Amino acid sequence: MASVEDIDARLPQTQCMRCGYNGCLPYAQAIADGTAQINQCPPGGAETIATLAVLLAREPLPLNPDNGTEGPPLLAVIDEERCIGCIKCLPPCPVDAIVGAKKQMHTVVAALCTGCELCVAPCPVDCISMVPRTAATAAASPAPRANRERYLAHKRRQASRANEQADLLAARKRFAQTTLPTNRTAG
Ligand code: SF4
Ligand code: SF4
Ligand code: SF4
Repeated sequence: MASVEDIDARLPQTQCMRCGYNGCLPYAQAIADGTAQINQCPPGGAETIATLAVLLAREPLPLNPDNGTEGPPLLAVIDEERCIGCIKCLPPCPVDAIVGAKKQMHTVVAALCTGCELCVAPCPVDCISMVPRTAATAAASPAPRANRERYLAHKRRQASRANEQADLLAARKRFAQTTLPTNRTAG
């Protein structure tokens, strides 16, 4: 019996959510639970389906068109002339492949980009395009294991930031409560 980890290890780890789940691990869990089919991952395509079929002793299926189509590996490219440095593309990138500071132009690190497309929609000036990788950039594509490690690091950073913000908010509330004048009733 294959474990969730065994299944997850065979997924591309782009975290693109095209399978209908919130990332590769939840999809792996759903396959293990028997609530998802093995043919819902467009980035993995026929190769991943065949690998999962062998692992789980199931018949291979064609990719479910409801989840998308299999295509060449993609790379996000930012038109730096048009980038306004709003940083809205940074949080959605599951592997932190976009670099740049607030009010400065941003750029995509080709060796880290998984082609998940999650940065495209949040950009308010539509300056991010997805392009097929060239032979040179394809050679530098990140491997699934590296994608997963970067994704887990991204999640840890997000959780840490959320905790810091919650602590800061709590401290501000405590400060406000100790410094606000006591309410007096008119009379
Ligand atoms: S890479 Fe495949 S399994 Fe992972 S989130 Fe995308 S579609 Fe789902
Ligand atoms: S740069 Fe865009 S396409 Fe590339 S990994 Fe990040 S969010 Fe996905
Ligand atoms: S969302 Fe678009 S405009 Fe904003 S920093 Fe990213 S690439 Fe630049």
